[in-house]
Amino acid sequence: MDAVNFQKLRNLMVDTQLIPRGIRDPRVLEAMRKVPRHLFMDESMWYKAYDDMALPVGEGQTISQPYMVAIMTELLDLKGDEKVLEIGTGSGYQAALLAELSQEVYTLERIQSLSEKAGEKLRGLGYPDVHLKVGDGTLGWPEAAPFDRILITAGAPEIPEPLIEQLADGGMILAPVGDRFSQQLVRVTKQKGKLLKEYHTSCVFVPLVGEYGWKADIP
Ligand code: SAH
Repeated sequence: MDAVNFQKLRNLMVDTQLIPRGIRDPRVLEAMRKVPRHLFMDESMWYKAYDDMALPVGEGQTISQPYMVAIMTELLDLKGDEKVLEIGTGSGYQAALLAELSQEVYTLERIQSLSEKAGEKLRGLGYPDVHLKVGDGTLGWPEAAPFDRILITAGAPEIPEPLIEQLADGGMILAPVGDRFSQQLVRVTKQKGKLLKEYHTSCVFVPLVGEYGWKADIP
C-alpha cells in the first residue's frame, strides 16, 4: 500500500473545510495543519481521520468534527500566554491544539481509559506538559485555578457554577449548552466580576455527565 500523505490531508482539511467556512485566526489554522489528528484515533479510523465529521474514540465518546474544533479554538481567542482548562479530554486532540496555542493546559476526563490513552498520545507526540486528571470536570480543578480560558467539549444543560468561580477576571468559558441532543456554543466572558454571554453556532456533543451536568449517560 502506498504511504498516505497525512500532511497533505491536513492541508486539504484546512483549505476545504475551515477557511471557506470562515475560520481566520492564522495561529489556529497553522496548529490544525500541524497536529496529527489521525494519531489520536485507532488505526482503523485513520482513513477518515481528516473527513468533515466527528468520529468514535471508544467508550461511546467522539472526537469532534474538525470545523467544530476549529471554531471553538478560534472563539477562545488564545494569544499564547494563557492557562487553559479543558473539560472532556476524550482523545487528547483538542488538548494538543490548546498546548500549541497557549502557555499551560489542564484537561479533565471522567473515563479513566480515555484519559490514560490520551496521556500516552500527548507524551509521545511532544506535549509532555499537558496536565491530565480523571474526575468530574463539572467541579473544575480548584487546586490549579484560576484559569484564563475554560473549554467544555461535552454538551451541558448549563455552565457549571464551579467553573465560573474558577475563571480568572477577564477570562472566557466556552461551552455547548442546550438539551441532550442539540446545543448552542455559548461564550461567557468575566469582566470585573460581571458575566457577558454571547451565543454562537449550534452543535451536537455527547453529554457532560456530572454533578453540575447531566446525571447519567443515558437519557
Ligand atoms: N475534546 C475531545 C472530545 C471530547 S468528547 C477530543 O479532542 O477528542 C467529550 C468527552 O467529555 C468524552 O470523552 C466524555 O467522557 C467527557 N466527559 C463527559 N462528562 C464529563 C465530565 N463531567 N468530566 C470530564 N469529562 C467528561
